Amino acid sequence: MCGIVGAIARKDVTPILLEGLKRLEYRGYDSAGVAIRTEDGRLQRVRSVRKVAALQELLDKHTVKGNLGIAHTRWATHGMPAERNAHPHMSGEQVAIVHNGIIENHSELREQLEAQGYTFTSETDTEVIAHLLASLMGGSQDLVQIVRTAIIKLVGAYALAVADPEDSERLVVARAGSPLVVGVAEDGNYIASDVFALLPVTQRFIFLEEGDIAEVRRDGVTVFDSEGNRVERPIQKFHLAASTADKGPYPHYMLKEIYEQPAVIAETL
Ligand code: GLU
Repeated sequence: MCGIVGAIARKDVTPILLEGLKRLEYRGYDSAGVAIRTEDGRLQRVRSVRKVAALQELLDKHTVKGNLGIAHTRWATHGMPAERNAHPHMSGEQVAIVHNGIIENHSELREQLEAQGYTFTSETDTEVIAHLLASLMGGSQDLVQIVRTAIIKLVGAYALAVADPEDSERLVVARAGSPLVVGVAEDGNYIASDVFALLPVTQRFIFLEEGDIAEVRRDGVTVFDSEGNRVERPIQKFHLAASTADKGPYPHYMLKEIYEQPAVIAETL
């Protein structure tokens, strides 16, 4: 399980997503990717099997900019590290998702979706979620309900972020078995699998509980529990410097951990 970052804000979110991914690099990963909703409403996806810095170069080259995006660092569980297996995964041009975790019943879901005519372009367990969501769209249901219907069919662990294909100003996220936080800020709202990813943009976090689904908009967050009831989750204030998750003066995280041990133990005591 690796990292997720997502953003919807009143400014270009590409640098925020990349900074978030860099802050998750310490967890290890084999590939990375982003999908950004550009000004013309398209979802533009860029993926790379190299470092986040290489992804940044690709994004700069194609000048990808937008106010909404999702990003991922992958630690492969199903399907080798390769660009086609890197997240975000898409169904068609508009449904894009990032996922941390493992979908145990992916083979049977894949068979069902292939029988319905969906074509898979990766070997991941994650791609079934993208096509499953697409298969449930087109009716009168809202994306929050669609995500609820889809996750009932999933066996396994997930932290999930979906770029809404109908509403260009909304992300829908869900979690069970994998962590996910919402970062609340003045200029927008953010999501991540780890608070460290968001420390440069906010110190205020909502920790989603097991089974929660949240609708994240630029100016508000609505959380539903596993029963579908609207719930209030507290906003918790952190007082962590953004540099807490940096390598600081050390060339590697391992050295940082070793040298910081005396201070951390003293602080804990
Ligand atoms: N199981 C998914 C995959 O192999 C997600 C892995 C992750 O959490 O990074 O693509």
